[in-house]
This record gives sequence, C-alpha cells and structure tokens, in this order.
Amino acid sequence: MGHWKKAFEPKKVNVQEILGKSLWKERSTQSWAFYCPHCRSPRKIPYRPQPGGWKHFSQIGLTAGFVTLLTWKWFDWKGIVVFLPIWAVFEFFYRSQVRAALSCPNCGFDPILYMVDTQKARDEIEKYWRKKFEEKGIPFPEPNEQAALASTSKKKSSSEIVP
Ligand SMILES: [Zn+2]
Repeated sequence: MGHWKKAFEPKKVNVQEILGKSLWKERSTQSWAFYCPHCRSPRKIPYRPQPGGWKHFSQIGLTAGFVTLLTWKWFDWKGIVVFLPIWAVFEFFYRSQVRAALSCPNCGFDPILYMVDTQKARDEIEKYWRKKFEEKGIPFPEPNEQAALASTSKKKSSSEIVP
C-alpha cells in the first residue's frame, strides 16, 4: 500500500501546482497566482483582484451600521448612506494595496503600470535594478553605454521600437 501511494503522490501535487500558478486572469478565489511575465518567477497575491464579495460587504455594512447608530440622534436611519463613502475609501485603499502587491519583488516589473505606460514600467524596472546594484556596491551598467554597444552591433534589439 505504501509503495502504491508513493508512486502516485508526487504527480498529483504537480498538477495542482501547475493549475494554480499558470493562469493569468481574475479568479473568484481569495488569492491570485501567476507567473511574472518579465522574470517568470511564480507570484502569489494574497488578495482578490477586485474588492467585493460577502466578506467585504459585511465588514463595510457593519461599519456603516455602527456609524449610523452613533449619528442616530441627528440622522435617524438615513445615516446608513455613510455606507457609500466608507465603501469608496475602503475600495481606494484596497486597490492601492493590491496595486502595491502586484509589482514583482524579484525584478521590479509592475503589470498594471505596463498596461498603462510601457516606458514607465521599463523605467521602474531600471530603478529597481539600480537600487539592487547600489546595495551590492556594483556600478550600474548605464543604458547609454548599452545603447552605444547595441548600435555598433547593428541594432538588433526590438525593444527600441516605441509607438
Ligand atoms: Zn518578476
């Protein structure tokens, strides 16, 4: 029995890992897993991509209910409209949290920034590596020198094209 189990266990784990890590899309689960498109390291974000779901609604609902009770003297039940501003503030912080968690700790790649502004995302990655080099006390290979080298070797890089 023990032998039989040993033969099958590793395969099962691998399939689960692959399924869990290889999909870059929004999922309904609490966390979010994908490979970094820049350095290909596996990433896991401990947040839902979008705020919402029963947990968030009930939390904000409770907070709104509490504020309503506190301001009952002045607004009665109408105080419940605080749900909206509280939700807005919550959503703002939630999104910025998700946003901060998204940028890759291994290479500095920020997928959302990349979708908005490719050049800025590149600058961010450069900044990240500049900092890394500085921490290690190694001089950063300047992009100007690299560009000079690239142009002498007949400009092969396709990364030069900017729309
Ligand atoms: Zn990365």
